[in-house]
Amino acid sequence: MNLIALPAFSDNYVWMLHDGTRAVVVDPGDAAPVIEALDARRLALAAILVTHHHADHVGGVDALRTRLQGPVYGPRRERIPAPYVALDDGDTVEVLGLRFEVIDVPGHTAGHIAYFHQGVEPAPILFCGDTLFSAGCGRLFEGTPAQMHTSLSRLAALPGDTRVCCAHEYTLSNLKFAAAVEPGNAARDDYIAWCESTRARGEPTLPSSVARERAVNPFLRVDEPAVVQSALAHGAADRTPTAVFATLRQWKNDFR
Ligand SMILES: [Zn+2]
Ligand SMILES: [Zn+2]
Repeated sequence: MNLIALPAFSDNYVWMLHDGTRAVVVDPGDAAPVIEALDARRLALAAILVTHHHADHVGGVDALRTRLQGPVYGPRRERIPAPYVALDDGDTVEVLGLRFEVIDVPGHTAGHIAYFHQGVEPAPILFCGDTLFSAGCGRLFEGTPAQMHTSLSRLAALPGDTRVCCAHEYTLSNLKFAAAVEPGNAARDDYIAWCESTRARGEPTLPSSVARERAVNPFLRVDEPAVVQSALAHGAADRTPTAVFATLRQWKNDFR
């Protein structure tokens, strides 16, 4: 099974999983890069997975229907281009013979879902849309800090080798913020060096892994003493994970 990040717009990725014959794509905000990739590899489009309703994730869905030989899947609690198969937390979806579990991850949007495949060949896969980014997380457009903290905690509890397929290339700018929050994190400094050389070659920094995100992502490290101290210095009401998370998210919104 091949996993590819198709660049779209200025910083989106449309993830494509294919077996050499059939493909599934995730969050096709634009149809053009998907059609190009299908044609270049002579692949049939077997299914589309959608994580949330934003235009940069669903804008290409209708244009791909003429190529589509299977369903569009998406969150029940959001307005997704119809027809689509509506999914709830705990549902499973079978694509290309792989079982994906649906995980409710509200916060960025109210009905955002993620798709997790537990298979170990070569590692599990997570399609998490705009919930978890490498070294960061999505903005809270429709949810509360408590909801987003719970959502990220569910994703952080997945196996460490899970391949984390985020929908945007925000890694380097997220890492600047991470360095401000937690200056003494050596693993994060190594990761910055790796991401800078990877981007200099024009390659995606993704997929990341759950283990790496636990080590470098301040939004998954709200129990770390250094992160708590930074949050308290930036106005956190107390040391609870939700208060620390809420302060980090607000601080990041204004961070340049
Ligand atoms: Zn979004
Ligand atoms: Zn997005």
